[in-house]
Amino acid sequence: MDAKTSEMGAEGFMRQLRQTFASLPNDIPVYLFARPGKDDVFVQAARQVMRAFRELTDKIIFREFDLTHEYARKWEVDRSPTLLIAPERFSIRWLGAPMGEESKTLLETLLIVGMGDSGLGAQAMAVLRKIDSPRTVQVFVSPSCPYCPQEAVNAVRAAVARPEVVAVTLVDIQCNPDLADRYHAQSVPQTYANDVLVGRGARSEELFCLSLQKLEPVTLFIPDNDAPLVETDLVVVGGGPAGLTAGIYAERSGLKTAVVEKGALGGQVATTPVVENYPGFTNVGGKTLVDMMASHALEYVSIFQGEEVLSVEQETPLVVRTSRRLFHAKAVLLATGAQHRLLGVPGEQRLSGRGVSYCATCDGPLFKGREVLMVGGGNSAVTEALHLRNMGVQVVLVHRRDELRAQDYLVKILEEADISVLWNTQVAEIRGDEGVASVLLENTVTGEKTTRAVSGVFVAIGYAPSVALARKIGVDLTDDGFVAHDGKHRTNIPGVYAAGDVEGGYKQIVTATGQGAAAALTIFEDMIHPYWRTGENAGVKKKA
Ligand code: NAP
Repeated sequence: MDAKTSEMGAEGFMRQLRQTFASLPNDIPVYLFARPGKDDVFVQAARQVMRAFRELTDKIIFREFDLTHEYARKWEVDRSPTLLIAPERFSIRWLGAPMGEESKTLLETLLIVGMGDSGLGAQAMAVLRKIDSPRTVQVFVSPSCPYCPQEAVNAVRAAVARPEVVAVTLVDIQCNPDLADRYHAQSVPQTYANDVLVGRGARSEELFCLSLQKLEPVTLFIPDNDAPLVETDLVVVGGGPAGLTAGIYAERSGLKTAVVEKGALGGQVATTPVVENYPGFTNVGGKTLVDMMASHALEYVSIFQGEEVLSVEQETPLVVRTSRRLFHAKAVLLATGAQHRLLGVPGEQRLSGRGVSYCATCDGPLFKGREVLMVGGGNSAVTEALHLRNMGVQVVLVHRRDELRAQDYLVKILEEADISVLWNTQVAEIRGDEGVASVLLENTVTGEKTTRAVSGVFVAIGYAPSVALARKIGVDLTDDGFVAHDGKHRTNIPGVYAAGDVEGGYKQIVTATGQGAAAALTIFEDMIHPYWRTGENAGVKKKA
């Protein structure tokens, strides 16, 4: 492009911009506040940028005040420079000068305010409407950050969409290094809501609004679905590794699939501190792995979270009744996983959530500097004990035998971390009034009983399959209580399948994902050649 063409392009762009501003229904008041008698480089830049925009349109009403002006008191402005954009209608504040990449944000902000419409999509709006108390939002940005405008504009849109609850401040960290230090904003963009860090990096508007609503960082957005009846080919019950993988494989085979999960996606993996040796990762955070699987699944599958499957009626099609709606499906896959096993000792249930915990990742930080027991001798107990130690918790492992079940590699790290182990010991009782105060321990060899003062008891003694729904439907179980299947994930009921920990077996994430994939492929094949119509026996085995 030669200089003349580029000049014409720029002129065309400015003409278009003028026309766009002219078509806006609202005026755009912008007030610049500066310290009296101190026009630093930032104030000059802010003024220059605003005057340049002002040249384009008389819709922008640009005024300047100093920090002693009554408007500064009225809108609690105490930093120089500060820009307030349409402060009578919205709470949108800019601390610093909108230079570099930030001038893009300013232009979008002016257009959104002039339009008086946030421009947010239906999903983001549905989330924002749920906010029922004030949100004070700060987005830390810098002029050289190409990702910042997206996050900053999300914030502006939220302020325009819900002016009665959302107040937004865009903080230029170059101009306000003290604020950046106070919030430890060492990378941009970074977003706080009510002083809670809710997001790092540029995000979609849906994720931005969800983090604002929940006041926590969120990495996954699952669209709401209000339909009372969903017609689909396959309903997968459970959104753990087996269920999510089955969803991906089923959709890829052309089956319309819904994954229904009553709790958090990922099942046990979501609360596993570190997963070791899932192929592709020497180690990876459990929640990180789940987020990656769920994002992948969402590319194809509809996920219905926070919804419990209550029954499956054996009609044609199968009628799946959940706590929110009905599904009509040709097949149902039970990927309900397993739930943590209880010790079954006095005091355990009463003090659950008050010192007795089944999730080190969730509750560990509450016990920093205090002594807790970790009960169990498998990979989970050892991994979680190491995790607690890393959090600064004084952890003691309690195992009922004199040899750990965990892999040698983990046992070696446990020894290196100098975590003490009470061998041949089991917890006989957990004691305390408001919270755990002590435990009664029993030596499994000598029978000797001792009391030990502890602040918490973490339990990681394995998992029991979640088969309540399977039982209700009339699915056969093995002698060990797992779902019985024919080796190709078919249960005794035509059209009902199983995959993952609910089937028993190795209980590894990688085997669960493999079973999910295999089950989806069986379901696809059965839909083309239904074995129950050809009179073939699925050959369900009662032994796992
Ligand atoms: P697990 O391997 O079944 O081990 C359970 C442990 O709890 C055993 O040491 C068992 O003792 C003990 N135990 C069972 N009932 C008990 C009771 N009533 N009182 C006291 N102790 C009791 O379970 P897990 O450690 O949760 O592991 C489950 C699966 O996940 C395994 O396949 C494991 O390999 C896998 N996993 C993998 C990773 C990874 O990073 N790759 C991490 C965690 C878990 P005994 O030894 O005496 O039977």
